[in-house]
Amino acid sequence: KPSRDGFQWTEATGLVAGVPTLGLIQPSSHCNKGKIYDVLVIGGGYAGLTASRNLALADNQVLLLEARDRIGGRSWSSNIDGYPYEMGGTWVHWNQPFIWNELRRYDMTGQLEVSPRKNVEGGARVTVMMDGELLHISHDEEDEVIESAFKKFINVDGQFARSIIPYPHDIEFNMKGVLSCDKMSMADRMTQVASQLTPLEKNMFEGFLAITHGAKWDEASFFELLRWWALMNYNYADFMAIGLTYKLRCGQSALARHIFDEARGTGQVDYSFSTAVATVNDNGDLVEVTSRDGSTFRARRIVCTIPLNVLHTIKFVPTLPVLKTEASLIGHANQVVKCHAEVANPEMRSLGATNYPDGKLTYTFGDGTTPAGNTHLVAFGSSLPHVHLSPQTDVETTKKAFEAFHPGMRVKRLVFHNWHEDEFARGAWEWLRPGMTTKYLQALRERHGNVLFASSDSSYGWRGFIDGAIEDGGRVSRVVDQELKAAVHRHQFD
Ligand code: FAD
Repeated sequence: KPSRDGFQWTEATGLVAGVPTLGLIQPSSHCNKGKIYDVLVIGGGYAGLTASRNLALADNQVLLLEARDRIGGRSWSSNIDGYPYEMGGTWVHWNQPFIWNELRRYDMTGQLEVSPRKNVEGGARVTVMMDGELLHISHDEEDEVIESAFKKFINVDGQFARSIIPYPHDIEFNMKGVLSCDKMSMADRMTQVASQLTPLEKNMFEGFLAITHGAKWDEASFFELLRWWALMNYNYADFMAIGLTYKLRCGQSALARHIFDEARGTGQVDYSFSTAVATVNDNGDLVEVTSRDGSTFRARRIVCTIPLNVLHTIKFVPTLPVLKTEASLIGHANQVVKCHAEVANPEMRSLGATNYPDGKLTYTFGDGTTPAGNTHLVAFGSSLPHVHLSPQTDVETTKKAFEAFHPGMRVKRLVFHNWHEDEFARGAWEWLRPGMTTKYLQALRERHGNVLFASSDSSYGWRGFIDGAIEDGGRVSRVVDQELKAAVHRHQFD
């Protein structure tokens, strides 16, 4: 049975809503509505799964509520003919400590495979659409051009951002860097360096960069790019290796499943899927959570992992502090489109291509080989208004956008999740707008009475990545566990 989420298209089936995944949970509910749980976790993405498992292992009674019919949130994979197309979070790396720890825990470090295949003898190809002309270059040239532009773009301090963010995981240092660069948008920075870039550098780099932030250029903070750059060891080779290279052969949903199964295996975790939370009412002693269908659930503490862009859709009593609500209403800016194609061209396995600024899909590369021996391409579309793509309403345009990357491309299948229109995400990975880190990050992390917040969208380390979600789920679960244990201890001595 497929999940309700995602779409796939083939010539034979046309567009079909719902994609099979290992993340689908059935039966969809196993809980006791009259029970008072120690902790109620809202959201079954990586932050919520980590918190649920850790709290259960520490002997707390946990209830997990999730609006979707599956686990994984913004990281989940299809299981189409046993093949994983990653619909959201995909690439991971051993430089990311929290995800790596999870892969070790479930004996999955041998499950990594490489997405882009650049060294295919005689077949490696890169295309660049520039001023209406399709250029063919090599992967080495592609790297040279983008690296050269990237360094000019990043080098605000003559030290490739090292003086601005010397310790990317240390928030104190981070905040100093934030103050100097957070107000600047990507558009502002491009204006500063545009004259230093060759036309080819500008075209290819903009096409590449557009998909890192997935926002309109004046709505994406330049600081966020500096932060990524610092996390990725201040150089282009590591940026590509860490950000866009290693993925799980078994798909992200296999990892999410391990975490969920371990949590369930403790006997301490109940759950209810297809349960969208509507209100959270904290009476100071207990918190009552009501779902859209009117069911109520109670717990001593809440771990809320709802994504930034939809936090404002939940009613909190007492109301959330102004800064939290304001940040959610403004939202992060990333509305990137991610789309997969199975193409009947094995030679495209080594493709890398940009089509900017007018391509409906801006950037693509070979991501794998399907069970049928076809090439699997992953592509991203930018958020520029004149090219914003909605694959489910316009399959033909989506196919043409793939075909524009290379002559002779034959699209057999499309697979995608439209994050822009997803009511439980309203966007892709976190990319804050200019000034938002300075004004809102701290406030987003603060608790509200018995409600604690964990999310990749407001984590300290790899914010916007799977690693950040796991880090923050772990942080909050430790706080909650200590509090609940201290409360039991106090009670015993009262
Ligand atoms: P989520 O995964 O969003 O989990 C929150 C959960 O809350 C969701 O399951 C949601 O359904 C649920 N929820 C929302 N509203 C309600 C409600 N009212 N009631 C109940 N439940 C609710 N990261 C990487 O590390 N590498 C990558 O390559 C990468 N690529 C990405 C590509 C895309 C297209 C996207 C979208 C993300 C990508 N990311 C990547 C980022 C990564 O996927 C996220 O940062 C991470 O998965 C977020 O985890 P989370 O638990 O904080 O939030």
